[in-house]
Amino acid sequence: MGPEEFREAAHRLVDWVADYRAKVASLPVRSRVEPGEVAGALPGSAPEAPEPLSALIEDLDRVIVPGLTHAQHPRNFAWFPANAALASVLGDILASGVGALGISWQSAPALTELEQVVCDWARQLCGLSEVWHGTICDGASTACLVALLVARERAVAGTAGSQREAGLQACPAPLVVYTSPEAHSSVAKAALLAGFGAANLRSVPILRPSRAMDPAALEKMMAEDTAAGRRPAAVVATAGTTATTAFDPIDTICGVASSYGAWVHVDAAMAGSAMLLEECRALFTGIEAADSISWNPHKWLGSVLETSLFYVKEPAALVSVMATGPSYLRSSRDGAVVQYRDWGLPLGRRFRALRLWALLRLEGAEAIRARLRRDLANAARLAGLVEQAPGWRLVAPVPLQTLCVLHVPEGLAGEQLDEHTLAWCEAVNSTGEAHLTPAHLDGRWMVRVSVGSETTEWADIEALWALMQRTARTAAARL
Ligand SMILES: *Cc1c(COP(=O)(O)O)cnc(C)c1O
Repeated sequence: MGPEEFREAAHRLVDWVADYRAKVASLPVRSRVEPGEVAGALPGSAPEAPEPLSALIEDLDRVIVPGLTHAQHPRNFAWFPANAALASVLGDILASGVGALGISWQSAPALTELEQVVCDWARQLCGLSEVWHGTICDGASTACLVALLVARERAVAGTAGSQREAGLQACPAPLVVYTSPEAHSSVAKAALLAGFGAANLRSVPILRPSRAMDPAALEKMMAEDTAAGRRPAAVVATAGTTATTAFDPIDTICGVASSYGAWVHVDAAMAGSAMLLEECRALFTGIEAADSISWNPHKWLGSVLETSLFYVKEPAALVSVMATGPSYLRSSRDGAVVQYRDWGLPLGRRFRALRLWALLRLEGAEAIRARLRRDLANAARLAGLVEQAPGWRLVAPVPLQTLCVLHVPEGLAGEQLDEHTLAWCEAVNSTGEAHLTPAHLDGRWMVRVSVGSETTEWADIEALWALMQRTARTAAARL
């Protein structure tokens, strides 16, 4: 395909995307396809001859769209806000269009330097100090893995356990990682992948009702591990946990960790966007004392997926663990520039900074902050309605935009309550009018309402609330 053919085809596809976004509110939020239906509707092998664009567009409408659960739907309250603001989509088109090869500074100087600029813009918007240096990775899961690999090396540097020596196989003392049971599943995954072993991953008890990590329990566990000859290597604190958006007390955690020389990684994947709001910064008190931070502008903020910011104070610590220096990647500028390949796992990197650059430039920070404030206000307003409604309960505090709710018909508890909860939630989802996700809290089901889709207005939340009440009433009548 040459540039002229591309110009025409791309105009048609951009029109298609604009039409999709214009009509997405009228589509059922959750996809109704059965497993295998999408694959079964497509040919089993690639065409030998070129097909017209119209055939591809036809299949988009016929097969792909029905096979989507619409994350950009205004009544999407599932998982977390997975916004892909159209301004950011433009940046994504640019990233693919220029097709830059991010393998070294020299291979695309603008790719590296725009990433530095955008990470610094985002840092300032969050009120973080100049000690932080950022990079963009695919997700918070990767950032956590990288943080734990660096923490691991820091804990054993200069011993036979260093990766430059015999590695973990010669560690003088078992290395321990601490997190709370409310941490994201990616934390345990990262700890296992980084070789710590499940036996050295501590689940620090939480406080109630906040569901934040108990720093006194952390201190006790670290003291016990140290007394037993183990070495506390890292703490992963969560700012905005997955189920309830609980905030671990970063301040106290950092104090405890530093007395044991442990690395502190703050996972603020979802809630990091709230740092843009001064009135929310108290939730992150102490974050300056951490060693690394991750947050995903590809969630609430609105950047296209795989725009995850990872900040560290000491890039040299990353480089010492990740750097490789093959001859074909060397250049005369190496000493003077950042080589982002040495800050993470992949060699070839996309021009991800364009997505966030386009979002921030075309929307401006003020409008983004206003949208986040709208969502907080809407979530608080809904929380007020839920609290006052007979039979309804908020089962966790609402520090941000996520509500954890239960409908409790009189006398119902335990497994029967679980069945009722799953029944009305499924009834909401099967209408296609809204999408919620249930989750476990203390081993029992509850339903999360995650407010924050870019196009969600109060009218959408009112409609959701009416639907929740209707489905819960119907489900209760069947008991
Ligand atoms: C979403 C989320 C993650 C996972 O992020 P990915 O970018 O999908 O890897 C991790 N931690 C928290 C707290 C999250 O909200």
